[in-house]
Amino acid sequence: MFEEEIQHKGVKRKLSEVFNETKENVKYLPGVTLPEHVTAETDLKKAVMYADVLIWVLPHQFVARTVQNMGKIKETCVSVSLIKGGLELEGGKLGLCSDLLRKLLNHEVGVLMGANVANEVAAGEFCEATLGIKDKKYQALLCKLFDCRTFRVTATDDIPGVELCGALKNVVALGAGFCDGLEYGGNTKAALIRIGLQEMKTFIRYFYPEVKDSTFLESCGVADLITTCFGGRNRKCAEAFVKAKGAKSWAQIEKELLGGQKLQGTLTALEIWPVMQKHNLCEKLPLLTTVYQIAFEDRAPWSIVKLPSGMPSSA
Ligand code: 13P
Repeated sequence: MFEEEIQHKGVKRKLSEVFNETKENVKYLPGVTLPEHVTAETDLKKAVMYADVLIWVLPHQFVARTVQNMGKIKETCVSVSLIKGGLELEGGKLGLCSDLLRKLLNHEVGVLMGANVANEVAAGEFCEATLGIKDKKYQALLCKLFDCRTFRVTATDDIPGVELCGALKNVVALGAGFCDGLEYGGNTKAALIRIGLQEMKTFIRYFYPEVKDSTFLESCGVADLITTCFGGRNRKCAEAFVKAKGAKSWAQIEKELLGGQKLQGTLTALEIWPVMQKHNLCEKLPLLTTVYQIAFEDRAPWSIVKLPSGMPSSA
């Protein structure tokens, strides 16, 4: 656990100490008691040294720094990334966060994405997730590790499909939030989700033609997109952005609404924009382009419903 000082019951305390006493992360997941055997360890080196599986769930901008500070890990270790974001252009090819982890750690890295709004998962409400990993041995092991009655895991070897769906849906969710800020109804949001899914597919297939159609119908695809466009933090912040009518920056909104958590959709939008330009994809991706322009170039929010007609109905 990254150590933080917090106010707890009127007293200044360390977040890790409160967690180890109560099994509740009072800052980031209040109201949920985790099992007795879960402990918070603030010494990163100690936390990872005997680990068989490393599960990566942190904002992607902290990945490289965290690996550098990790020290020695087991040679047989495997990683699973739950990080939805972190794209970069490397030698003209789109790089994934799992690629970065694989390069830095030199071991097998899979991804786990899906319609998994955290507080609902923590409350034990039924949901699904998609595990993307190549090695069949690890597929079986990790399915066994993560799958349970309320969290059903389906495995695939399509890592870029799973991971890119997880990253790009955050940008579409900003568009859904703009719609909500403008008080448009369900039909409009449904249209935006459909176009968004289409554009995610176009973008992903441009860089990874091998990505499977079926991946978009898994939890990591259409299901994650839907839940994020209705109940996610990106949606919430984008709604506030429109309602503030230019009076609040993204940083201010993030601070006011996310209680110390990080907004991923705006960062991902900034990361994919030069990639879209470099590869002449802006015309093929009018929704993603419009979301970027509303978010960062003062384009009017209502432009979200002024997309060109004749959108392709299939990739
Ligand atoms: P937000 O980051 O927009 O909250 O999305 C949550 C999510 O990824 C649900 O699967």
